[in-house]
Amino acid sequence: MADCIFCKIAAKGIPAKIVREDADTVAFEDLNPQAPTHVLVIPRKHLATAGDLGPEDEALVGKLLRAGAEIATQRGIAASGWRAVLNTNRDAGQSVFHIHLHVLGGRPMGWPPG
Ligand code: 5GP
Ligand code: ZN
Repeated sequence: MADCIFCKIAAKGIPAKIVREDADTVAFEDLNPQAPTHVLVIPRKHLATAGDLGPEDEALVGKLLRAGAEIATQRGIAASGWRAVLNTNRDAGQSVFHIHLHVLGGRPMGWPPG
């Protein structure tokens, strides 16, 4: 999608610290990290929100989570713990409307989230 910042990052049209990529997903460091590890995993396919996922995207969601788990292992936080967050729409605080899985870890995190 032309005006989407995360589509541009996936296409390498604007810079980001990419840490992992495959045919369907791209993962990069969050610009404003909220934890020692804060990586965003996105599908190459533009989908604005989780509400736009269709049946054809079910495998893609699994790939996002598996990519997150792989990154957690690489960062050495798989055993200590990490959190996957997918904010959807206003009340959740979604600010970029291209689905992204936050992979957060490297410090204890509270619950419930703010
Ligand atoms: P949301 O609030 O939509 O769940 O999360 C959007 C995330 O994208 C935020 O954590 C924000 O710091 C990050 N972000 C926004 N713009 C950019 C950017 O241009 N590059 C990178 N690497 N991260 C971004
Ligand atoms: Zn996009």
